[in-house]
Amino acid sequence: MAFTLYPDTRLALARDALAGLSVGDALGSQYFVPGRQPADLADGRLPPPPWQWTDDTEMACSVLAALAEAGRIDRDALALSFAERCEPYRGYGPGAVRILRLIRTGTPWPVAAAAAFDGQGSCGNGAAMRVGPLGAYFADSTSRAAAQARASAEVTHAHPEGVAGAVAVAVAAALAARARLDGYRPDPARLLAGVAAALDPATEVHRGVRRVAGLLGRQLAEVVDAVGNGSRVTAQDTVAFTCWVAATHLDDYPAAIRACVEAGGDVDTTAAIVGAVVAAYAGVGTPGGVPDDWLAAREPLPDWVG
Ligand SMILES: [Mg+2]
Repeated sequence: MAFTLYPDTRLALARDALAGLSVGDALGSQYFVPGRQPADLADGRLPPPPWQWTDDTEMACSVLAALAEAGRIDRDALALSFAERCEPYRGYGPGAVRILRLIRTGTPWPVAAAAAFDGQGSCGNGAAMRVGPLGAYFADSTSRAAAQARASAEVTHAHPEGVAGAVAVAVAAALAARARLDGYRPDPARLLAGVAAALDPATEVHRGVRRVAGLLGRQLAEVVDAVGNGSRVTAQDTVAFTCWVAATHLDDYPAAIRACVEAGGDVDTTAAIVGAVVAAYAGVGTPGGVPDDWLAAREPLPDWVG
């Protein structure tokens, strides 16, 4: 059913998703610090603040700023924003740094993105990790969320799996935000079915999402065994896992992030993706939402995100 979503509402949903994304990213990256134990978080002990956010948050801020400015993705402008805002010490992968350097020095993004990884294009997580707020922004239309996610992905990720990862996460966040507006929690199986329906059936990301739909209610370790936990830093071994965690813990942000930390792998990115989707539904400072003290522990977002 079509309905009107005012720009302020769109942005509020996207900002909550960005809060969830950035807190997940910043807290998740703490578990790469030597001596930090996932068991501490499970026991309710948080790492000392401030929690510094990484590339996931920096790129997501560019996506949100683009939507706040234009209401849609202008690929040329977004590519330039990613390139100009990139602080390499934030944990960008070497492939991403290379693409962004090419764009910054004048190579058109279609050329830079296509040249990555010996001409295959990137199937990394970069497009998926930054797109949750975009999905929440398009809570009124999963097809618009998917199309805009594709546009936001293409500027750096030319590989079909990299694009599919972004579409999956955006549609999950759109469905989560829509459910929040409608005031009901979607059944996890329906949420995953909605995500799968938006994906190219030829992709491994699609197969992974279908697979985790059959693993709802199972143990976390079993899901990690079946589809991965992001440790290979590809969309194929990250996105299905994050969809399962988000669908399972959609009304409990702390539980969702604890699951990412417990699973290990590329924790800042899995927690960023899951955090965006869950916060699109559960909100910030609400019961089950992003806890206020977690948000306060996160390094402030850059001024330019507004
Ligand atoms: Mg990161």
